[in-house]
Amino acid sequence: MRISKSPWLLHYDGSSCNGCDIEVLAATTPRFDVERFGIINTGNPRHADIFLCTGGVNSQNQDVVRQIYDQMPDPKVVLACGICACDGGIFKDCYNILGGTDTVIPVDVYVPGCAVRPEALIDGVVKALKILDEKSEKMKRGEYRSLTSAEYAESLKKTDNKAEAAGMEEKDA
Ligand code: SF4
Repeated sequence: MRISKSPWLLHYDGSSCNGCDIEVLAATTPRFDVERFGIINTGNPRHADIFLCTGGVNSQNQDVVRQIYDQMPDPKVVLACGICACDGGIFKDCYNILGGTDTVIPVDVYVPGCAVRPEALIDGVVKALKILDEKSEKMKRGEYRSLTSAEYAESLKKTDNKAEAAGMEEKDA
């Protein structure tokens, strides 16, 4: 696959048990080494192309997740890493867990696992890169911009289907 740029990613730990975060670190450090593809872990949303979330969204961090997402420039992609980020996982029924990442922002790629494996994570990043390039091409033609988190919230009020709310076709995991 040809990629047009070296994407930078921002990793945010929602309310994970840290199991997935350790695997994210494994993927980004020399053992699995996604940096060899030019993929750098940045702490600045304004420099990030990929928003990589671990853990579920809770009452306290929901605004942080929205703010990071809204601060990222277009085109951008969101990866939900681990089953907690995909749908709340084993913490789903806890009193303060709202659900997975797509409870508050649109998600492009879901990477299941508990914990997520570095190989699955790298596979998810490759899928994300393809989506990033597609969005970039559409933007050049003036056919695309990302929903803001507020627009996504409005969309979610009209449908239970999160892919539909995000304006995406539902894809198999
Ligand atoms: S998916 Fe498993 S390892 Fe990852 S944050 Fe949730 S409980 Fe922890």
